[in-house]
Amino acid sequence: MPYQTFDSAAAIAFAQSRGFLPQHAEVSCTEIGDGNLNLVFHLRAEGRGLIVKQALPYVRCVGESWPLTLDRARIEAETLLAHAKVAEPFVVKVLDFDPELYAMVQEDLSHLVLLRRRLIEGERVDGLSADLADYLAQSLYAYSDFALAGKEKKALVSQFSNPELCQITEDLFFTDPFREHERNDIFPATRPLAEELWQDVMLLDAVAELKARFLSCPQALLHGDVHSGSVFSGPGELKVIDAEFGFFGPMGFDVGSVIGNLLLAWCRHKCLGNQDYADWLEEECINFWQHFEDRFKTLLAGTEDLALASEGYQSRFINQVQKDALGYAGCELIRRTLGLAHVADIASLEGGQRTEAEKRALALGRSLILASQGTCDIGLVRRLLHPSPVRFAA
Ligand code: ADP
Ligand code: MG
Repeated sequence: MPYQTFDSAAAIAFAQSRGFLPQHAEVSCTEIGDGNLNLVFHLRAEGRGLIVKQALPYVRCVGESWPLTLDRARIEAETLLAHAKVAEPFVVKVLDFDPELYAMVQEDLSHLVLLRRRLIEGERVDGLSADLADYLAQSLYAYSDFALAGKEKKALVSQFSNPELCQITEDLFFTDPFREHERNDIFPATRPLAEELWQDVMLLDAVAELKARFLSCPQALLHGDVHSGSVFSGPGELKVIDAEFGFFGPMGFDVGSVIGNLLLAWCRHKCLGNQDYADWLEEECINFWQHFEDRFKTLLAGTEDLALASEGYQSRFINQVQKDALGYAGCELIRRTLGLAHVADIASLEGGQRTEAEKRALALGRSLILASQGTCDIGLVRRLLHPSPVRFAA
């Protein structure tokens, strides 16, 4: 069937034609997409829910003036399926995909809550850091040179070539927020800080390094957008959705997105005076880092590639992933403050509190990016979150 944009009736007909709904059942359908890009329909029939997600030929939050490839729906479905093969409990189930309508059927996760909402509300999420670390360690390892044969990996790199979505990240993450750009969205009180940041030559130098690695380092099949609005959570359950930015890139990008989003929530709660919750977020960051390192090390030890089995190399490799992660976490803090796409953790704060949270996000982001250029460990995050007063020699 040729591509056409779904309305509710078409979404129902699609699910019916693929055998997901009883033929004569009463079906209700609501479009629930709060994301920036696609249509998401929530269908209900005979007490059971189902999701139909379809790509639009343009960026939803901007409109038809910003065309965008429909192929992102294929990338999303194939990335989620690939990750589900190796990290099944943590990935939304893709039940079907139509390559002509660029539409997929997914399991309904409405019984869960988006992680961003939980973090904004100050809820402690049991098992959060361990689940995210396991998801990333398992999916990144399985689609890396440590686990794949050379030919197989190169075929996958080409299958997951995703130039248009990567271009969005290249621009919105690494380029626009570090200079004056019409796509930026800067809170007036924050502008002087932004202008100061743009003059920081060492910072721009480090961002260039991080962008260059994003552009030319196909280490593993990334999710590409694991911010806290792409994670559903509930008691004993964590499910990642929305993988249309999937491509082969540097592992530290996904690891850093998780850390960056925990720290964005930290900036919020620190400004609201919720010290206990800010401390919990800090512990989650540290646990996530440690758990990822442990799990990833164990997986690396199982590589069948005799050359890549070198322990010294593996330890340098993990260290580089962690350095990258700190840098990308820093970029996430800055781009969510100055760039096109803000997050509710900070943007929902009022006046002075928002200014204060943005100031923290920019300072923390800058320190993380600069730190990514040196030797680093997660102790650094603790030191950045608790800067000790400057001491002068007697
Ligand atoms: P976009 O690609 O446009 O960002 P998302 O995949 O983030 O779209 O989905 C937008 C919203 O739709 C999510 O924030 C969530 O509220 C809802 N949603 C998406 N997938 C599911 C699902 N499988 N189950 C329940 N709700 C979902
Ligand atoms: Mg989304």
